[in-house]
Amino acid sequence: MQILYRSFVLFFALLLLGNTTLQADQPPKKKILYFTHEPGTYHRYTPQLAIFRQLAQRAGWELTVMTGDHEAQIKKLREPDFGKPFDAIVYNFCFAGSKDTLAAANLISQTREHGVPALLIHCAMHSWWPTFKSGEAGSLGPDYHGQAKADPVLVTQWRLTQGDRPFPVWGDFTGIASTTHGPSQPITLNRVEEHPATKRFPQTFVTGNTELYNNLYVLERVIPLIRGVQGEEEAVVMWNCPQGKAEVIGLSVGHDVNDWTQKPYQNLVIDSVNYLAEKRQRESK
Ligand SMILES: [Zn+2]
Repeated sequence: MQILYRSFVLFFALLLLGNTTLQADQPPKKKILYFTHEPGTYHRYTPQLAIFRQLAQRAGWELTVMTGDHEAQIKKLREPDFGKPFDAIVYNFCFAGSKDTLAAANLISQTREHGVPALLIHCAMHSWWPTFKSGEAGSLGPDYHGQAKADPVLVTQWRLTQGDRPFPVWGDFTGIASTTHGPSQPITLNRVEEHPATKRFPQTFVTGNTELYNNLYVLERVIPLIRGVQGEEEAVVMWNCPQGKAEVIGLSVGHDVNDWTQKPYQNLVIDSVNYLAEKRQRESK
């Protein structure tokens, strides 16, 4: 009996050891946060989320989804360290009119201070307009050398309550500030840079009907990855931009669900997230 018992113990010990070795050989699963709101006013975020879940499964990510209605989601962004446990965050939302600078600043600090990289999709670019689009030039004071036009009332409120903490200029976080878009028509996309995030994207690809976002201003450190042409208009539609301890990728196409159903678009999303998350995993070792 004693011998039988010992064999059992040995057997399970070996099994456990075998498992541990096996797990150590495999790279850890990428922990991805997808942040959205539902149902969306101008965008159909529910089917976009359903497609993203499929992509996450295909890519083998450990996916966490944060969703809810518009206002509730903005409030969630004020939660300190909400992004910290993740290897990358995907933001797919539309908070254009939001004046919640605390939410914007806390989101930005997940990347700049905590080092969690982010993929910003479509209307994420058209968010917190009062921090860079709809205000006045010069309102950020003589030390600010960028091109944002922030709402002076918001800036004053910020200084009174936050002191020297940097005011969250959303367009300076996305890297390319965008403020408007063209009609819903096909865009010809041209790959302009070799990058891991675009490695499976064809040299040229024509979308279905969707929106081309303008480039109001482009930070110097932005690396354009894909340019889009729609009629007479041309703009960078995908780019990479360092942000503090990490970086962001901006992808301004993705208005319509028909973008999301296209294989080249899906590959862009998967390859962008993998690129960002792998870098984070390497650097946090
Ligand atoms: Zn849109």
